[in-house]
Amino acid sequence: MRVVIAGGGIGGLALAQGLKRAGIEVLVAERDVDLTATGGYRLHLRATALQALRVLLPPSLVERLYAASAAGHYGIAVRDHRARLLVRAAPPAPAGPGRPPDPALDVDRITLRLVLADDLDDVLQLGTTVVAHTADAHGVTVRLREAIRPTEHIESEVRCDLLVAADGARSTVADQLAGGPTATPTGFSGIAGWTSVDALSDKAREVLATGSLLAVGPGGAGLYASWHDPARDSPLHPHHRRDNADGALGADGVSPVARVIWGVIALETALPTGLGADLRSRPPEQVLAIAVAALRERGWTQPLRSLVERADPATVGAFSFLAADPDHIAPWPASRATALGDAAHAVPPTGGRGAATAVEDAADLCATLQQAAAGEVTAVMAVHDYEQQLRARGAAAVRESLQPLGWIKGTATPAGAVTARLALPVASAAASGVRKLRRR
Ligand SMILES: Cc1cc2nc3c(=O)[nH]c(=O)nc-3n(C[C@H](O)[C@H](O)[C@H](O)COP(=O)(O)OP(=O)(O)OC[C@H]3O[C@@H](n4cnc5c(N)ncnc54)[C@H](O)[C@@H]3O)c2cc1C
Repeated sequence: MRVVIAGGGIGGLALAQGLKRAGIEVLVAERDVDLTATGGYRLHLRATALQALRVLLPPSLVERLYAASAAGHYGIAVRDHRARLLVRAAPPAPAGPGRPPDPALDVDRITLRLVLADDLDDVLQLGTTVVAHTADAHGVTVRLREAIRPTEHIESEVRCDLLVAADGARSTVADQLAGGPTATPTGFSGIAGWTSVDALSDKAREVLATGSLLAVGPGGAGLYASWHDPARDSPLHPHHRRDNADGALGADGVSPVARVIWGVIALETALPTGLGADLRSRPPEQVLAIAVAALRERGWTQPLRSLVERADPATVGAFSFLAADPDHIAPWPASRATALGDAAHAVPPTGGRGAATAVEDAADLCATLQQAAAGEVTAVMAVHDYEQQLRARGAAAVRESLQPLGWIKGTATPAGAVTARLALPVASAAASGVRKLRRR
């Protein structure tokens, strides 16, 4: 069996590792020329994603991933724009009998991508874009465009038994399968960046001391922030960090310094006119200034505002949020082409689910393709079985990730703004009362 994967992001590389380990021939076509060139911030891998990675990756790579990550926080504190605690989301109950689940991990996106690409040189074709495909009853013909110089390309075709769209939220392959876009803009943009912990005020440290926070304020804006310190919070003993992580981090060019990773989430209509659409093309200093202004104009107070104001401008970037329709995930009949991750079910980052869900998809698809390779099912039936799981998991991830956007959107209407101004302090006072009662 020969599999072509369109896209060497998180899900595509995880699947390639699993297929290679299972002895299935695989080729990954990745548009990026350099795996570190497209950035990103911190990705959250929940316990089920870690279990999937243990199945897909060789043990040495699993250790390398743990060595380069911080133990993830389960809980999240929901605050208002004045940093008052509204509610603390409880950690999920440990699952089932047997070994307790791994704690979640938080990992820098570039670090995770480099770990997943380890030892894939023979199957990973960088600078190569999948431009079209034609599937028939016996296989798939995939058209590739390879960049040989910045302005020069060559086109070629490869034949395979199965094509997997792992090309992210604007997937051309999945759109072709669905006969239309698989994701649409949510109307929200994110501005994200890093702030060194040395730059934090004592109050800001206090607010983040108990874990991640999501703050919701009036006027269609929110803020996510989380402490990220792989050295302090490593799940492995320092010996193993020294042996593995420092080398890995050094080689990957990723700094292990402690920092706060934050993202301002704003309704595009709440940003100065027209800015939502072209935020990504602006210099980082300007993007940071827009984020700070958005919080200041809506009455956000210190210490939350300072998390953003004190950021290193070089780390700041903007993203527009897309989402799939949870009722129409993978709305195509099973064939020799399928999709995983954001290509099938794009999620905004507000649920912390994008990377984890892509990895879990990869593990399910890898398992069913192994059955097909062993002759236990046909390739199309393997895809059919996989897509049943994909639809349920994808719909849950999209719904969960859209929820915080719904809260933020509610504060943007005149009625919502009044509700936010009145109800958030009331809810805050009520929550604080409940906590005091519990402490007695
Ligand atoms: C640059 C970037 C930064 C991100 N930062 C964050 C973040 O900070 N926090 C967070 O929670 N989520 C972030 N995300 C989203 C998160 O990484 C995804 O939800 C998660 O990785 C889903 O994995 P995936 O494999 O489905 O898609 P991705 O990891 O997005 O990978 C898709 C890959 O496909 C490649 N590609 C696209 N089209 C083609 C094509 N036609 N042919 C070949 N290759 C193609 C892309 O270059 C990309 O490498 C980011 C995504 C990107 C692309």
